[in-house]
Amino acid sequence: MHYLSLGDTDAIAASCHHLELAGTGVVLDAGMDPDEDGPAALPPFHLLDSRPVDHVVVTHAHHDHLGALPVLMRRVPHARVHMSQPTALLADVLLPSSAKLQLRRMREGSTAFDPVFDVDTAEALSYLYEAHPLDTDLDLSGLGATAPLRARFYHAGHVLGAIGVYLEAEEGGRTRRVFYTSDTSLRPQAIQPGARYPDGPLDVLLLETTLGADPEAELTTRKAEEKAFGEALARTVARGGQALVPVFALGRAQEILTLIARFKQRGLIPNDTPVYSAGQLRGIAGIYDQTRFSTPRLDPAFEITEVEQLRLPRTRTRLDDAFREPGIFVVSSGMLFERTLSNQIAQRLVGHEKNGIFFVGFSKEGSPGDRLQQAAAEGPGTEVTLDPEEGPQKVYAEVQRFRFSGHAHRRDLIQLVERMRPRTVVLVHGEAAAKSWMKDNIEFFYPDTTVHIPEQGAALEL
Ligand SMILES: [Zn+2]
Repeated sequence: MHYLSLGDTDAIAASCHHLELAGTGVVLDAGMDPDEDGPAALPPFHLLDSRPVDHVVVTHAHHDHLGALPVLMRRVPHARVHMSQPTALLADVLLPSSAKLQLRRMREGSTAFDPVFDVDTAEALSYLYEAHPLDTDLDLSGLGATAPLRARFYHAGHVLGAIGVYLEAEEGGRTRRVFYTSDTSLRPQAIQPGARYPDGPLDVLLLETTLGADPEAELTTRKAEEKAFGEALARTVARGGQALVPVFALGRAQEILTLIARFKQRGLIPNDTPVYSAGQLRGIAGIYDQTRFSTPRLDPAFEITEVEQLRLPRTRTRLDDAFREPGIFVVSSGMLFERTLSNQIAQRLVGHEKNGIFFVGFSKEGSPGDRLQQAAAEGPGTEVTLDPEEGPQKVYAEVQRFRFSGHAHRRDLIQLVERMRPRTVVLVHGEAAAKSWMKDNIEFFYPDTTVHIPEQGAALEL
């Protein structure tokens, strides 16, 4: 079996892997690097030219797993594309919207690169998606298969539609078993239960390591974070302020709306507190609801679109009205990027101590969200520049971060190794420090297991 990493190897960037097993070639994920621009954001697909590609499996609809699919499919038009049904529905929305965003950025001059694909290409792809249910055998044998390749999708817990992928084939006179965790949450979040992954033994485990260097993640419990978050919202509303919750449109946004509904139900937040949402996250909430009986849920009866919410007003005067009374704003982007709704609302709220800005996800270093958290940590009155065109502002609002990760923390990942009993582990999707912590710990607890930290473009024989 040959393994090749085409995506990130020393950071969390684009996910993309090639596996050749019993003569069949499978690409696992076709992500785009969110920190790069233009062609540099794409995995080096030319490395596939000398390799078989019979199938592409997309594990979930996050940009760093799905975003480069239209470009990959131009290169391997004969390959079949597989995913879960919710991921196919999400891809129909997210890929055309990515094409539109690339075009807009080029037109407004914020990138020097042409879009890597256009809306028509992204929309046309929809006809190729083969959606499969969980826990069902699939035959993915390729043209040059020396033996049948069997696959199965498992619930990954991470975000709507996310799957882990099991592959099995006879090779070299024995059965080879491979599992790709992709991004996974082993514990329940607000809407979905944790991953339901099979037991081992395995030959090869491709293991995500996002939180491998994050000791704090395993010290906080979701229950405690939820409580602290609810209290922060309640505090803000009680002092007559507005609360901004910057969110990622897929996953965290729907989780936060669900939590707010629970806080109101329990009387933690007054029932009549207006909740504003906007943009794509409302459409994605509709896909969550549409699939609530066909995907694993904690409460299939619960509908996110039934959570009372107002569309964020578009006109300035109506927006001014909305800011006159306490309210909660759940809008993108999660890291307060310039020229997004969350950035504009943060500019309005940041200068007054009655308001709250509550982060519920990761803000990468140097992003406006990170800059705001740094400034707030230095004390009231510290200046922050949320948008260079608007200049610096003094921070008086309450700024906090809550941990609602959709990723398994590192002790849970070690337990997954315990349960799946792989002969070989390939560490993917994490920073260098995260992978080295995971490698040290796996080797310490399971000395018979071989651990690889792959380099981009360097093939491994497993
Ligand atoms: Zn993800």
